[in-house]
Amino acid sequence: MSASILGFPRIGSKRQLKTAVEGFWSKKISQEELLSQARQLRQDHWNLQSSQGLTQVPVGDFTFYDHVLDHAILFGIVPERYNAADAGLERYFALARGLQVPSRNIDLPSLEMVKWFDTNYHYMVPELAINQEFALDSSKIIGELEEALALGLNARPVVIGPVTLLKLSKTVSSASTLSFLPKLLPKYVELVQQLVNKGVKTIQLDEPILALDIDEETKEAFKTAYTTLSQVSGAEYLLATYFGGLGNNLSLVAELPIQALHIDLVRDPKQLPKVLSTIPESVNLSLGVVDGRNIWKTDLNNAFSLLQEAAKARPVENLTVSASCSLLHSPHSLEAETALDAELKSWLAFATEKVVEISTLASALKNGVDSVKAKFEENAAALQTRRSSTRVSNPEVKARVQALTAADYARQAEFPVRQAEQREKFNLPLFPTTTIGSFPQTSEVRRNRARFRKGEITKAEYEQYLETATRECIEWQDKAGLDVLVHGEFERTDMVEFFGEHLSGFTFTRNGWVQSYGSRCVKPPVIYGDVNRTRAMTTETAKFSQTCTSKPVKGMLTGPVTILQWSFVRDDQPRSETCQQIALAIRDEVVDLESSGTTIIQVDEPAIREGLPLRHENWDDYLQWSVDAFRLATAGVKNSTQIHTHMCYSDFNAIFQSIKRLDADVITIENAKSDLKLLHAFEKHGYKAEIGPGLYDIHSPRVPSTQEMKDRVQKMLAYLAPSLLWINPDCGLKTRGWDEVKAALNNLVDVARQLRKEH
Ligand code: GLN
Ligand code: ZN
Repeated sequence: MSASILGFPRIGSKRQLKTAVEGFWSKKISQEELLSQARQLRQDHWNLQSSQGLTQVPVGDFTFYDHVLDHAILFGIVPERYNAADAGLERYFALARGLQVPSRNIDLPSLEMVKWFDTNYHYMVPELAINQEFALDSSKIIGELEEALALGLNARPVVIGPVTLLKLSKTVSSASTLSFLPKLLPKYVELVQQLVNKGVKTIQLDEPILALDIDEETKEAFKTAYTTLSQVSGAEYLLATYFGGLGNNLSLVAELPIQALHIDLVRDPKQLPKVLSTIPESVNLSLGVVDGRNIWKTDLNNAFSLLQEAAKARPVENLTVSASCSLLHSPHSLEAETALDAELKSWLAFATEKVVEISTLASALKNGVDSVKAKFEENAAALQTRRSSTRVSNPEVKARVQALTAADYARQAEFPVRQAEQREKFNLPLFPTTTIGSFPQTSEVRRNRARFRKGEITKAEYEQYLETATRECIEWQDKAGLDVLVHGEFERTDMVEFFGEHLSGFTFTRNGWVQSYGSRCVKPPVIYGDVNRTRAMTTETAKFSQTCTSKPVKGMLTGPVTILQWSFVRDDQPRSETCQQIALAIRDEVVDLESSGTTIIQVDEPAIREGLPLRHENWDDYLQWSVDAFRLATAGVKNSTQIHTHMCYSDFNAIFQSIKRLDADVITIENAKSDLKLLHAFEKHGYKAEIGPGLYDIHSPRVPSTQEMKDRVQKMLAYLAPSLLWINPDCGLKTRGWDEVKAALNNLVDVARQLRKEH
């Protein structure tokens, strides 16, 4: 009977890793100091696990930036251009974040960064050269292994499995990345031999792609890879799958010559009986019963019954209690949450508390529930208060959801009728110009917010400052000749927190940081109860903004799916229900904006694409409720009120019908860096509404010239009718400086003026 986790958050209880790494970048601390702090963090995290009685600790889950990037280094997948940087940390961070040293003629962009499955963690995409040769550099993992062994720990190295690693990599050639497997595998063999020589018994190979739909080629690659690896004498493998059930990959996994298998029983508890009957008895099972992706206390009784089900079929010695996936996606510990009230806090478990839960469950399985009776009772009592709490359930919200009818999800008239009414009302020129919402969040904006939060300036003073900033922003846009203006979003830190702070059912942690990429962490709001809007959130700002200009100022809201996606959500009701409640709250705001005089309202949904489930079979269901939520949020207005939505660029092709079904009057999308095929798809799928494909990339300080943006529009016009095209940047401007923004937008307005003369 053992207990273990697949990985622990590396950032530290106080985000020490962030401080250390950023300190190293800005040359405030030396490399030695960085290495020593990292060693300390690893040691702390291992000790925390072993002191709780976990029988094995993962080694190699630590990283300075990203564990996928560590694997690129491990196997020598480093594009040649990075040889300009010195080997070691300089090259490592050059891959991670780019490197510019004019005196040495170095100007390297970083590798591409992509979301890690359906999480909010981002990894660096390994880039395979056409003639990629692999070379093993095991110094990092061997070094960390030696550290753990020196501490007397039972260490289990964690390595991304060869198939997942290749599937996550990219190559310039048209060949599949799996075609590199024959060359890569010998390096895995070499690595395993080195680990075995150090006395390691079990090696964890993470293959999360087994939770996805995979093709025949990938299945073959699994067989080849694991057959080869099984021939290394003395090595045993724990194949780790997570983020979903094995589904139809189960029979493949059953054939692989492995010694242990980890399954995610939080995302897919129903797979347990099938796993028990299909996976050979000789294979040990690691049962992920504690949610590694969320912040709620585990229902120990529930988890225990899953464990018992397994224990009926297999000897307990062959079972391991675990979390569903690496705890990387949970905040570090509840200890710092001194501002949360005791009841709410008693419902939560962060990574540290999850380790305790795992250890409790393992004791229960080994020695009977009575051996940990008090802990089970305490757990049940906390869950009971959560279930019955009046702050969780709000009957009014429930009744309102119940009473919804189809009409609540539909605008009064179809798009052509609305478009005609809107055209008459706004009388906008051809190629109307607009922006996506935010304007520069300058240090002055942030300083004023910080002073207000610390009580150094009064609420009135802060609001006065915001009004001035907003007025200046609007007046500048008006003078610059933009057609549809925005207020600039100076009062918001980010798109979700602002709304969460105004809605009931949300709370905020003090230290609930989760790594997003590199040293960047996010602190998602916690949705714990029925969501309700008790007062208007943006109407005052909107009313004020409209007094600054005679042109329309867009109301600016975040959509329900994005609010859901970027929060920790309830696990006691389906995501779809929570989303529906948020949609109703946003709907109330949309309606209030309209009645207070706002005529154009933008509801941002940048996260709708990223919410797509990993398995195809679940797409329809998700697209149904997520698009419904957007419709519910926006359908309460008159025909003449124009609804905009904004999405950051994503591969829409697969979900085009859903984009259409949003039924927005105008959609702005991130498009400057993508090819125009996307626009072709809009045409092909019979998209009728208006579109603003971004004309320039806002992630770079570079100011685009009028000519290059105009060329871009000319190309777009091959796919889109001039009467449907809006002229706008790719995304919000909050990360840019005012000088760049002014220059770029002046050019953008020029583009529209020139085009109007020609059409
Ligand atoms: N309105 C938001 C802004 O301009 C949209 C941000 C986004 O798409 N991520 O900042
Ligand atoms: Zn965007």
